[in-house]
Amino acid sequence: MVPDAARYVIVGAGIHGLSTAWHLARELRTRRRGDGGDVVVLDKTGPGAGATGIACGVIRNNYFQPAMRRLMAHSVSVWESEAQALSYHPVGYMQISPEAMHAGVAQIHEQQREIGYPSTFVEGEAACRAYMRDLFPDWQARGITSVLHEKRGGYANNLASVRALAAKAEAEGVRILTGVRVTGLELDGGTHGAVSAVTTDRGVIRSERLVVAAGPWVRDLWKMLDLPETITVRGADGQPHPNQPMWTYWLVQEGTLKVDPGLLADASGNPPPVIHLDTDAPLYDDAGALVTDRPWGIYYKPDENFGGVRGGSMPRRIEQPAEKVTVDPYGPEKSSYVTGEEFARLWTAGLAHCHSRFEGAGHLFSREPSGGIGCFTPDSFPVFDTFRQNAFVIADANHGYKMIGVGALVAKELLGEPQELLAPFRFARYEQGELHPTSNSPFPWS
Ligand SMILES: Cc1cc2nc3c(=O)[nH]c(=O)nc-3n(C[C@H](O)[C@H](O)[C@H](O)COP(=O)(O)OP(=O)(O)OC[C@H]3O[C@@H](n4cnc5c(N)ncnc54)[C@H](O)[C@@H]3O)c2cc1C
Repeated sequence: MVPDAARYVIVGAGIHGLSTAWHLARELRTRRRGDGGDVVVLDKTGPGAGATGIACGVIRNNYFQPAMRRLMAHSVSVWESEAQALSYHPVGYMQISPEAMHAGVAQIHEQQREIGYPSTFVEGEAACRAYMRDLFPDWQARGITSVLHEKRGGYANNLASVRALAAKAEAEGVRILTGVRVTGLELDGGTHGAVSAVTTDRGVIRSERLVVAAGPWVRDLWKMLDLPETITVRGADGQPHPNQPMWTYWLVQEGTLKVDPGLLADASGNPPPVIHLDTDAPLYDDAGALVTDRPWGIYYKPDENFGGVRGGSMPRRIEQPAEKVTVDPYGPEKSSYVTGEEFARLWTAGLAHCHSRFEGAGHLFSREPSGGIGCFTPDSFPVFDTFRQNAFVIADANHGYKMIGVGALVAKELLGEPQELLAPFRFARYEQGELHPTSNSPFPWS
C-alpha cells in the first residue's frame, strides 16, 4: 500500500526523479521547511528501470543552443561535486566534425569560452589529423576540419549512479516505493484544477505537489493531466503551425563491440575522452562495400559496465503516432525497437573508419538487445514547467542522463525560487515562437 498523503509525490525513479528527490530533501532540511520524509518517489518498476538504466552515460557540454550549454555546464558541476560516489569518469569529450559543421562548432567553442567552460578548438584538416594522431596513433578518419575537445565531461556508469542517487535520497529520509504504477490523477474542480491526489494500483495518495519524471512515459502522465496531444508551434518563419504532435518517439540506437575496453586506450595507455564523430565522408564496410554516402555520425567510449567499446549512431524516428508506441524497453514489443543489423553495420564500419585497430572487428558486435526509446518534444528540446498549478513536468526530450543538475534546479523552483537556467525551457515558447536554434549535426539532439 501507499501512504494516504505526501507533500511531494515524484513519479519516476530515473535520473530526474531521484535527483529531484535528493535535492528537494536536502533543501527542505537546510531551510528547515521539512525533510525527506515529505517526499515520496513512485516507480512502476524500480530505480533505473527506464531510459536512465540503458543510457550510454555520455556527459558533454557540446550543444549548439546557448541555453542547453549553460544548463549542461551546471549539470557537469553536479557530477564533479560527487564524482566518485556517482561513478563519474571525467575523461573529457571530443566533437570531431566535417566542414559543414565547422562554423557552428566554432561558435560553440567561442561561447564555451564566454561561460568559462574549458575546451580546445583545432581547425584545418592537417592540424586535426595531427591532434588526433597524438591521441590515437591509428587515427584515420578523412575530411575532418574541426575538433572541439572539451576538457570537462566524460561519462558515468548509469546503474551505479542511479544506485548512488537513490541511496543519497533515502539517507535524507525520502521513501522510494517500487512496483507502484500511477494510473490516474485527481484534478480539483474538474479538468483545469490543481492535482489533489495521485491514483496508483496500490492506493490513492493525496499530495500538495506532483513532479512528473516519467522519462519516455511522460506521454501517459501528460494525458492524465489532461494536457493537449497536439499544439500550435510558432516556427522560425514567424507563422503559427497548428496540430503539431506534442510527443514523438525515436529509436535510440546503441550497441557494444565485445572487446577488452582497454583496446580503446589512448597513446599513453589511458582511457580516452568520449569520441563523437560527425562526417560527410562516404563510409565503407570491411568488405569495401558502401555503407552510406550521406552524412553520418557515431559516438563511442570504453565501457566496463557493458564489457567492451560502447556507443551509438543517429537515432531513427518511429513513424507511429505517439499513443501507439509501446515504450517499455523490456516489454513484449521490444523486438520491434531493438538495435538492428543496419545500425551494427554502420557503427562498426564507423569505428574502423576512425581507427585501424577496429578494422575487421565488425563480427565482434554484441547481438544482445540494446538501445531504447526516446520521447521528443516538438523542437526536440526539454520542457521543464509547471502545469495545473502544482504539477511540475520534467520532459527532457531524451537529452537527460547527463542532466543530473536539473533536479537541483527543480527542487528550488518547488520551493518558490524560479530558476533562470530553466526559463528557456518553458512550454509557452512553442506558442511564442521562442525556439532554440538548430545545428547542422545529423543528430536531433545536438
Ligand atoms: C539507449 C539510450 C541511450 C542514451 N544515452 C544517453 C547518454 O549517453 N547521455 C545522456 O545524457 N542521455 C542519454 N540518453 C537519454 C537519457 O537516458 C534520458 O534522457 C534520461 O535517462 C531520462 O531520465 P528520466 O528520469 O526522465 O526517465 P527514466 O529513466 O525513463 O525514468 C522514468 C521512470 O518512470 C517510471 N514510470 C513511468 N511511468 C510510470 C507510471 N505510470 N507510474 C510509476 N512509474 C512510472 C519508469 O519505470 C522509469 O523508471 C539515452 C537514452 C536511451 C534510450
